[in-house]
Amino acid sequence: MKMTFKFRGKPTKTEERWLFSEFRHQKQLQNYMLQMRHQMWDYGRKSVSMYDQINHLKDLRAATSHYSEHPQDMQVSTIKRVNAAHEHFQRRCREGAEKKGYPRYKSSVRSLSWSLRKHKVKDKATGTFRRVRQHPIRETGTRYNRLKVPKLGEIKIRMHRRLIGDPKEVTLKKTARGWYVFIVCEVPDTVPCVPKSACGVDVGTHTFLTTSAGETEENPRFYRQAERKLVKLHRDLSRKTYQSKRWYKAKDALAKQADIVACQRLDFLAKTAYKLFHHKDFDAVVAEKLKSSNMVKNRHLAKSISDASWGMFFEWCSWVAKRDGKHFHQVPPHHTSQTCSECCQKSPVKLKLSERLFHCKSCGLKLDRDHNAALNILHRAACALRGEVWDTILYETRNPLLQQACWS
Ligand SMILES: [Zn+2]
Repeated sequence: MKMTFKFRGKPTKTEERWLFSEFRHQKQLQNYMLQMRHQMWDYGRKSVSMYDQINHLKDLRAATSHYSEHPQDMQVSTIKRVNAAHEHFQRRCREGAEKKGYPRYKSSVRSLSWSLRKHKVKDKATGTFRRVRQHPIRETGTRYNRLKVPKLGEIKIRMHRRLIGDPKEVTLKKTARGWYVFIVCEVPDTVPCVPKSACGVDVGTHTFLTTSAGETEENPRFYRQAERKLVKLHRDLSRKTYQSKRWYKAKDALAKQADIVACQRLDFLAKTAYKLFHHKDFDAVVAEKLKSSNMVKNRHLAKSISDASWGMFFEWCSWVAKRDGKHFHQVPPHHTSQTCSECCQKSPVKLKLSERLFHCKSCGLKLDRDHNAALNILHRAACALRGEVWDTILYETRNPLLQQACWS
């Protein structure tokens, strides 16, 4: 299993200058490699593989200092990135996706990646050689440790937690609020536990989530909170002369605010996912398999749905479950809020979003609509686990007329 650790990087002004020049070089290399693939295909119908390009890079490095004065590991990972972009494009073509997303030329690159090589190290006790991967961090015992960057030297890094596992890859990224270092580590897989307690989770815009135990989590609405600030910053930017000094300043301010909102959201989602599995002590969590891309087409709800970012929340849930040996499942979302969790009868009328109470006309159950949906999600997962089709579907297929009679 791979784990990525994120830390703040603190390069000096001189180091920053070097990093920016490296960004420019990697951008040129990326565009050159992309162009090479295009031209080989256009003129000779020949596809170029990643290994061809890496071999070509070796020739270039031997021929000119323009290439050899830059770190080879970074250049190789740029080629890998071009290759990945092409592979994704080919996959989308095979799947017949609507948007193929042909790899495009880049106007700028904002991150540098390199994988860590293995070195031969002599074992003093036995006298034998073994291959050890170089460690990217030099510990200083002070507030800041040092990150080893090829060809540059060491830059300051603020490590708020210890690395776990074997570091394999490093990415240095420039964002609106500064530099970040991402270190990918290989950690041993966790053995999944035998689930003893499970909970269904219904996500919404009113409350962020409701569990099948009836507990709710407030929706923090970070975007809505910052919306007035963002509107003002957008207006400021639109009033500046394009690409003037003041325009760049306004652009930075806007990007910073947007980054703050994104970080707040990520923090909330990660903590909520952790809370579900650990504080509430559920071994298995079940949620709906929502298709957010279709839901945001409703322009009245688009902002609220994007702000809640359920997709990212589910991703975090599945990741936390994988890391800590728990379980996370997603079930089909159809009619979860229309069905009674007590008698499994489906109401023919769809509840409006403003109606918060579910009232079953068949058995008289009155329950909060989200709580009812969460129970339904849990039932559905339990049925799936037993290999059954959900009760409502069984009921509908068995006797559709009966249902009509019941509700008319
Ligand atoms: Zn009922």
